[in-house]
Amino acid sequence: MKQVYLDYSATTPVKDEVVKEMLPYFTEAYGNPSSIYSIGVNAKAGLDLARQRVADLINADAKEITFTSCGTEADNWVLEGVADKLKDKGNHIITTKIEHHAILHTCEYLEKHGFEVTYLDVDKEGFVTPEALEAAIRDNTILVSIMMVNNEIGTVQPIKELAAVARAKGIFFHTDAVQGLGNVPIDVKDLGVDFLSMSAHKIYGPKGVGALFARKGTRLSNFIHGGAQESKKRAGTENSAGIVGFGKAAELAREGLENHIVHSSVLRDALWQKIEANIPDVHFNGPRDRRHPGNLNVSFDYIEGEAILLMLDAYGISVSTGSACSSKSLAPSHVLDAIGVPITRMNGTVRFTVGDFTTPEDIDYVVDALTKVVTRLRELSPVTGQEGW
Ligand SMILES: *Cc1c(COP(=O)(O)O)cnc(C)c1O
Repeated sequence: MKQVYLDYSATTPVKDEVVKEMLPYFTEAYGNPSSIYSIGVNAKAGLDLARQRVADLINADAKEITFTSCGTEADNWVLEGVADKLKDKGNHIITTKIEHHAILHTCEYLEKHGFEVTYLDVDKEGFVTPEALEAAIRDNTILVSIMMVNNEIGTVQPIKELAAVARAKGIFFHTDAVQGLGNVPIDVKDLGVDFLSMSAHKIYGPKGVGALFARKGTRLSNFIHGGAQESKKRAGTENSAGIVGFGKAAELAREGLENHIVHSSVLRDALWQKIEANIPDVHFNGPRDRRHPGNLNVSFDYIEGEAILLMLDAYGISVSTGSACSSKSLAPSHVLDAIGVPITRMNGTVRFTVGDFTTPEDIDYVVDALTKVVTRLRELSPVTGQEGW
């Protein structure tokens, strides 16, 4: 059966060039990068090149990049590390209601340990305004953390303007750029951010490797304690093959950024146009402009997103319903909730994310299957056409 993967924001396939570059680090340059004989030194050289490539993707200095085990670790590290380092200065952190759980659940953890967190509201398209951030800042604010690109509805925040507000008050600014990396141009010098989280597996690299950019002169406590790896900032023998893969993926992402943006957005726009033309009672969620190039988030009235997902799977199509149930509320998505999508419509929401291997034929195949699936489910739905939907 034909397979169409439209969940690139969940993870991406690893590109052949990336796998090829990783393989020798399992079998030849397998030395411990801390060892001073040749096979260790060769592994260390792989790390150095990868660090430079990741730095180049965001216009950072290689010394400002520390590798972690994933994007989640980078997010945990920066929040807990800054909180610990600056706890004598203040105990207030500002973030938003639409962050990834790697941020939200870490903030909840910090709240249990004496920190106060302000969760900023967003508008109907998911944007945070610099004015709202400014109004939330207090004398005891030590960190602002606002994601660059939302993983559910694709909103690209005005990070430069937001970071400027924090900077003007001497407060550290972090951005979770896991969905931004390789999807929007990133220049940390121009953006003025102090910390930035990244992950390899969202940019056609391997799973289990991420990185934190920390601007020179910033301060944060260590998160993982042990040996002297990563300039004594992140202990643990490095995942050399994974890091090398991240480096190659970063290089490909930098070289291919413009093509990637055009390719993805053309197919994403075609997908929406065809859905809108073929299926009644559909709603587009998130912004039209300033959006992740591959992200389309659609609500289908009268039916459940999970049912659509499972029936599309039978056609070999992979999509997502957005984030899993949040433990705090009955809402299936804290992001859709924050932008004011009514609960009935939320349940019928599907996230499609296209990427580098998506073709125009894939889009036609998906729209054809989706039209059949939605028609069938609506025939079965007891609420089709009822008031209140
Ligand atoms: C995927 C994702 C993460 C987590 O990255 P992992 O490497 O999977 O831990 C964090 N933030 C956002 C916005 C993401 O999309």
